[in-house]
Amino acid sequence: MGGQIEMRCRCGQVRGTVTKASPRTVNRVVCYCDDCQAFAHQLGRTDLLNDKGGSDIVQIAPATLGFTQGKDRIVGLRLTPKGLYRWHASCCNTPVGNTLGPAIPFVGIPVQVFDAARPDDVFGAPIGAILGKYAVGEPPAGSTGLNLSLLFRAIARVMGWRLGGKTWPHPFFARDTRVPLYPLTVLSHDRREALRRFCGPHPTARAGP
Ligand SMILES: [Zn+2]
Ligand SMILES: [Zn+2]
Repeated sequence: MGGQIEMRCRCGQVRGTVTKASPRTVNRVVCYCDDCQAFAHQLGRTDLLNDKGGSDIVQIAPATLGFTQGKDRIVGLRLTPKGLYRWHASCCNTPVGNTLGPAIPFVGIPVQVFDAARPDDVFGAPIGAILGKYAVGEPPAGSTGLNLSLLFRAIARVMGWRLGGKTWPHPFFARDTRVPLYPLTVLSHDRREALRRFCGPHPTARAGP
């Protein structure tokens, strides 16, 4: 079920492949949270945000992603000591996968990173938007409050991947030790706070660093 799709960082040094990509095997959601916005500003990659600061994210099963080139360029950033692992290509600051630890198996990747002329054909259109209270300006319709159908779908996907053996091999963690495979940095508290002025709902500064 589903096809194979290539992904690559902006400069092309980091490349990977996702197998079994289809609307039935992924979860595509636009996330307006201030962490995703802060991450894009930290990387200087606000080109990946929509005009309200949203990130169009394709969530996939870890085992379906494999890097084929440029692994030595992959690094991770956590915005807080317990935050998501936000892996990216150090060559050109392209996000290549947001994850939690292997116990909650998913990888979220900005749709722009995929080599797809028509991503809707591959992944389906986004099924919704979340955390619109952080959107820059007016929240998009349906993006605020608790969206139960989106939540249940996300949980069902992750549970399915976990029970279906789609955690390993994990693209970012070693199976035997559960240790991250790539160098990791935690943002300082001061830097995390400094990024808030760029983020919704009411940014007080325009561009990232
Ligand atoms: Zn690159
Ligand atoms: Zn987010």
